[in-house]
Amino acid sequence: AFDVLVIGGGPAGAAAAVYAARKGIRTGVAAERFGGQVLDTMDIENFISVPHTEGPKMASALEQHVKDYDVDIMNLQKAVGLVPAKTAGGLIEVKLENGASLKSRTVILSTGARWRNVNVPGEAEYKNKGVAYCPHCDGPLFKGKRVAVIGGGNSGVEAAIDLAGIVAHVTLIEFDSQLRADAVLQRKLASLPNVKIVTSAMTTEIHGENGKVSGLSYKDRNHDSVHRVDLEGVFVQIGLVPNTEWLKDSGVALTPRGEIEVDYRGETSIPGVFAAGDATTTPYKQIIIAMGEGAKASLSAFDYLIRQVPA
Ligand code: FAD
Repeated sequence: AFDVLVIGGGPAGAAAAVYAARKGIRTGVAAERFGGQVLDTMDIENFISVPHTEGPKMASALEQHVKDYDVDIMNLQKAVGLVPAKTAGGLIEVKLENGASLKSRTVILSTGARWRNVNVPGEAEYKNKGVAYCPHCDGPLFKGKRVAVIGGGNSGVEAAIDLAGIVAHVTLIEFDSQLRADAVLQRKLASLPNVKIVTSAMTTEIHGENGKVSGLSYKDRNHDSVHRVDLEGVFVQIGLVPNTEWLKDSGVALTPRGEIEVDYRGETSIPGVFAAGDATTTPYKQIIIAMGEGAKASLSAFDYLIRQVPA
């Protein structure tokens, strides 16, 4: 059995594994895809002290750093269930898709999240070539350019307000007849001179030229007419879905949106089970934050272990 078993091999999981291994305790990492969302990222310019790097480069550096320690890395392993310890301080079980199960005295959940796609022609083709999902990450790449934000919930409206301060013009596209964001955000958005809000609009296609985004088409749902907007960037903001479906029957408390509830130490509702990164309630889904939270959850797991009476 492990002392610390980390589920997920993104920035949060890698940080948790390094911190645990440095305590000299038995550490394992099981991940469906080591590297996580970082593998899908092009340029990273907000990882402080590293002015610029690329996703695949950071992903392999994450894995290399973990491999420098005595950590049992189980890549391409998907967790499908968690069974809490039967007795206080007992072993927690994590079931894998391949039928095997792993046991550990503590578990750190860091299975991350995924952006919901609009699934229109051009989205996949121009991902990282004008189609973006993270305004904190990619906003500055569109300085002085024209962008659209798809989605009029809180994250879409926050993104539009944020981007309006950087880019030349923002078109906010909402499917419904009205925005769903908090009133205070909507008032702020309406006060900005370089933002146009289009409601009852269904995005139908993202266009490109010379390998880059050049426009977006939407259907006016009231008049069935199709309109085209010329622009250089599209931010898709229709939801970030935590990869926590596999925890539904585990007893780990999740919010209605599926985020793992954690306290300020990264502890979940189940003793010995900790969590970090995009899968949790911790706000602002960023690499630097996921790594810090992973380190914190790992130190909390160690603190939990040293308080257990030897069996
Ligand atoms: P993830 O990176 O999502 O990793 C989750 C891990 O868990 C993966 O290894 C995954 O395979 C594994 N996993 C999932 N489910 C299971 C399961 N059931 N069993 C086993 N393993 C599982 N942030 C920045 O700070 N700067 C940027 O420039 C930036 N750009 C981005 C660009 C894009 C296109 C995207 C998508 C995100 C970007 N982000 C950026 C956000 C950043 O990538 C995330 O905040 C960060 O990766 C979260 O780390 P994490 O470890 O919590 O989760």
